[in-house]
Amino acid sequence: MSVVVKEEFDVVIGLETHVQMTTKTKCFCSCKVEFGAEPNTNVCPVCLALPGSLPVLNKKALEYAIKAALALNCKVHELSIFARKNYFYPDLPKGYQISQYDKPLATDGYIDIKVDGKTQRVRIHRLHMEEDAGKTIHEGKKSYVDLNRAGTPLMEIVTEPDITSAVGARLYLEKLRNIMRYIEVSDADMEKGQLRCDVNISLKPKGSEKLGTKVEIKNLNSFRFVQKAIEYEIERQAKLLKKGEEIAQETRLFDPSSGKTYTMRTKEEAHDYRYFPDPDLLPVRITVKQIEEIKKSLPELPDEKEKRYVEQYGLTEYDAGVLVADKDLALFFEETVRLYEKNPKAIANWIINELLGRLNDKGLDITQSPVKPEHIVELVKLIDKKVISGKIAKEVFNEVFETQKSPKQIVEEKGLKQITNPEEIRGIIEEIIKNNPKEVEKYKAGNTKLIGFFVGQVMKATKGKANPQLVNKLLQEILNG
Ligand code: ADP
Ligand code: MG
Ligand code: ZN
Repeated sequence: MSVVVKEEFDVVIGLETHVQMTTKTKCFCSCKVEFGAEPNTNVCPVCLALPGSLPVLNKKALEYAIKAALALNCKVHELSIFARKNYFYPDLPKGYQISQYDKPLATDGYIDIKVDGKTQRVRIHRLHMEEDAGKTIHEGKKSYVDLNRAGTPLMEIVTEPDITSAVGARLYLEKLRNIMRYIEVSDADMEKGQLRCDVNISLKPKGSEKLGTKVEIKNLNSFRFVQKAIEYEIERQAKLLKKGEEIAQETRLFDPSSGKTYTMRTKEEAHDYRYFPDPDLLPVRITVKQIEEIKKSLPELPDEKEKRYVEQYGLTEYDAGVLVADKDLALFFEETVRLYEKNPKAIANWIINELLGRLNDKGLDITQSPVKPEHIVELVKLIDKKVISGKIAKEVFNEVFETQKSPKQIVEEKGLKQITNPEEIRGIIEEIIKNNPKEVEKYKAGNTKLIGFFVGQVMKATKGKANPQLVNKLLQEILNG
């Protein structure tokens, strides 16, 4: 955001996100939910909207949505109602989408995000269930309809306008994705369309209470595009407002190739969906007991994990945050700590500072890591027992990454054991002192910084294998003695 914008305006953003649930079957029929199947193979009278067919709610989809609502700190309502959202489109054969309107499944939740180290709460206005539409595919002059996706269960999650920057929007979405993965209701992969986001955005004069006119940007399908579209839109709106012009309330689309947004439809063209309760579906009734049971089944969530890592393992909040941002990474860390409980901080450091970078370079995720928890445990133990120094350990780590050999074996084969015999080190130091009389003279004349030079020489002579503390101690003794 340009400095001028920052000084003059507050940015206000609310997100409407669709999350596709990974149930085995569709929301109101027993057709398979499958990505990439032959077009129109996972269809039946219900999702094709043949006359006389009736929808039946998939219990698993309801359970997943309740799980998600609870994980997002929402209030789950004992009564919610499915409604018809009426509009015409070729990939919507019923002429309406089954959704929820004035009685959604859940309301009043939140996700906490950390922006520049500060926790910011993004309130969730509502979470409701609905079905996905089919897909229209355009090829040249022809258009095709694939109804495999029609009836796939979705959750729509709507925030309050609490987000204040493009980065904030991205952090919110990443956290939402991670929570969905933790509770295993969706892979929430944006590239696969399992997480789709509409962004609402407006500006207001700095500190003003009154919200400005919002623009909605539809169908953003990557984290990067969300951020880019918002950044562009902030500048666009700021320019207009500074010229004294009004913002038109409209829906826009983002064009990734130009990095710009453009008008899709104006307020006048907005749809009137004429929502009404779906007479084919019973109101959804959930008991408090059911809600409690689902709540108990939730796994430890990222925020709870982060807190525990700080309290139980003494990690910094930052490091804990890095580890819990990916469920598989958190589990990798926990498995490693389970195997060696004495030094969780060192384990976290090796994972965050060495392993993640290497994995990133190779385009691997943690589940594909050639370095396993056992390797890290062995490495940290070798350092803790002073068999190798931290510096040598890095060399060993790289070797483990390349070869998957055990750290012990590498240390043996390469003769990397630390030299901890004082007599051996003393001999080396005396040799170095003999060969560097000038430096010794300067040191004795008061230039004690030269201790670093001598340490360096010893390390060079021992190929980094001398125990650094011992080298320091002996050097002090000999030079000062
Ligand atoms: P609509 O009826 O146009 O869909 P809603 O009131 O339902 O509008 O809000 C949709 C989304 O837009 C919500 O996420 C909400 O937080 C956000 N929103 C509402 N007003 C504003 C505003 N002035 N600026 C930015 N976002 C807004
Ligand atoms: Mg809307
Ligand atoms: Zn079907």
